[in-house]
Amino acid sequence: MTRHNAALTLDNVRFSFGQTEMLFNLQLAAGETGVIVGPSGSGKSTMLNLIAGFETPKSGHILIGGEAIDTAPPSDRPVTMVFQENNLFAHLDVFSNIGLGRSPALKLTEQDKAAIRTAIDRVELTGKEHRKPEELSGGERQRVAIARALVRDKPVLLLDEAFASLGPALRQQMLDLIAALQRETGITILMVTHTPEDALRFSSTVFFLKDGEIKEQGDANIMLSASGPQAIRDYMGTTEHKSS
Ligand code: ADP
Ligand code: MG
Repeated sequence: MTRHNAALTLDNVRFSFGQTEMLFNLQLAAGETGVIVGPSGSGKSTMLNLIAGFETPKSGHILIGGEAIDTAPPSDRPVTMVFQENNLFAHLDVFSNIGLGRSPALKLTEQDKAAIRTAIDRVELTGKEHRKPEELSGGERQRVAIARALVRDKPVLLLDEAFASLGPALRQQMLDLIAALQRETGITILMVTHTPEDALRFSSTVFFLKDGEIKEQGDANIMLSASGPQAIRDYMGTTEHKSS
C-alpha cells in the first residue's frame, strides 16, 4: 500500500440547508485522527459530506495535502467515506463490492484481485466472497465497506458512525484495524462516533460540534476526561450534579 501524507484543512467553510448556518474550521495534520462528537443534528454528517463533495460549501475552502478540492467532483477527491449503512450494491457480491474500490468498472488486474483478497482476509470475511449483501449480517456488510476503503487506498478516510451497527468486540476489532492501517500508510482519519470512548483507542483530537460549529477541540484524553470542557461533559452525561 501507498504511504500517504495529506493534511486536511477546512478554512471558513460555510453551509446551510436553509435554517442553521454552519461554519467549519478544522485542521488535521497528515496521519492524524480526528474524532467528531456532538448531539444529533449538530452537523457532523454534513461536515463529512462537504469534505467528500456530496454537499457544496457556500464559501470557504477545503484543502487536502495543501490543494483546494472545493470544486472537484466526489469521485476525483482523494477521500474514502464509509457511511453507517447502505454502503453496498445489492446486486453485487462481496468480492465485487470491494472491487469497486479499486475499479468502478470492475476491470480488475491480478494485483487488484490480490489486494481485494488481502482486504477480505483482514476484515475476516474469507469464504464469504460470493455472498450478496442480503446474505450478510449488518456487521458483515460494514466489514465489506471497510475492506473497500482498504483497497481504495486514499489519503483521507472519513467514517460516519461506520461502526455503530457492530457489537462491542467487533467494533474494537475494526478500530484496531483502522489504527493499524493508519500506522502502515499514514492516512488522515476523520470519524464521527456516538461512542466517544472510541476516540481513546487512537491518539486523537476530539472535535465537539454543536449547532453547526466546532465549539471545543483538543486531545481526546483531556477532552473526554472529568476535567474536560463543560459542554462535552454535559453532552456525555458525565457532569456530576451536586445535591444541595
Ligand atoms: P448529525 O450528523 O450531527 O446528526 P446532520 O449533519 O445530519 O447532523 O444534520 C445537520 C442539520 O442539517 C440538522 O438540522 C438536519 O436536520 C439538517 N439536514 C441534514 N440533511 C439535510 C437535508 N438533506 N436537507 C435539509 N436539512 C438537512
Ligand atoms: Mg449524522
